[in-house]
Amino acid sequence: MEAKLPPAEDLSSQLQILYDQVHSTCCASSGECCALSDTEFDQGYATMFPLYSAEYLNIAAYVREQFPVQRQRELFAFTEERPRRCPFLGENHACTIYPVRPLICRTYAVMDRQRIDQALEQYRDVLPETWLKGFARREGSMLCPRVRVTQPEKLERHIYNLITSVYERALRQLHSTLELADGERRQVLRAAGHREWPLNWTWGGFNALCAAPMAWVQGHFKGYAKKAELMDIV
Ligand code: SF4
Repeated sequence: MEAKLPPAEDLSSQLQILYDQVHSTCCASSGECCALSDTEFDQGYATMFPLYSAEYLNIAAYVREQFPVQRQRELFAFTEERPRRCPFLGENHACTIYPVRPLICRTYAVMDRQRIDQALEQYRDVLPETWLKGFARREGSMLCPRVRVTQPEKLERHIYNLITSVYERALRQLHSTLELADGERRQVLRAAGHREWPLNWTWGGFNALCAAPMAWVQGHFKGYAKKAELMDIV
């Protein structure tokens, strides 16, 4: 059975509508948020995570279109679930998939303490307290003084989207329209105890299910999934 994938350009344009709501930023390009320190690794952090299923397919299409064959092979053979360094981090700390980088990379560290506090004040008694607490906890753990917002006119909408999970709901909706891989791989996933495709995972995790040779998937995926720390099924 063939995988039911929407045309790559449809997926790409739907994601772009979402990404366009995030204000652009510039930063010192230190690459620090694209690699983990020992402490971060020990604390369970991951780079480029959460990567949503629709984003995985979008990046995979970009890699097939834009990268030399040898590099494509390397990237699709990458199955490390929680690497210390993002596989797309290039020379001079540049992101090699910048036009299609996932939402987490676009929104990471764009809030500062003052903006978080202002938003909490603005939406106090307007939006549920649990949403506000979740927003404050999440954004407060991703502060970086070297990130500067370059489209401040989008900020208010972006903050509202974060608090009310607009991005998350849109990515879940897209996920519900996708078959991530063919029926044979779905059977292996089911045999590993998971009825649905992962909603989000990492580049290496999705590759282990969707891009690794079928013989490897049949022989090893179950054990891989058992040890996986970050696979998120709906
Ligand atoms: S996808 Fe790009 S921006 Fe995101 S962690 Fe990887 S290198 Fe960094």
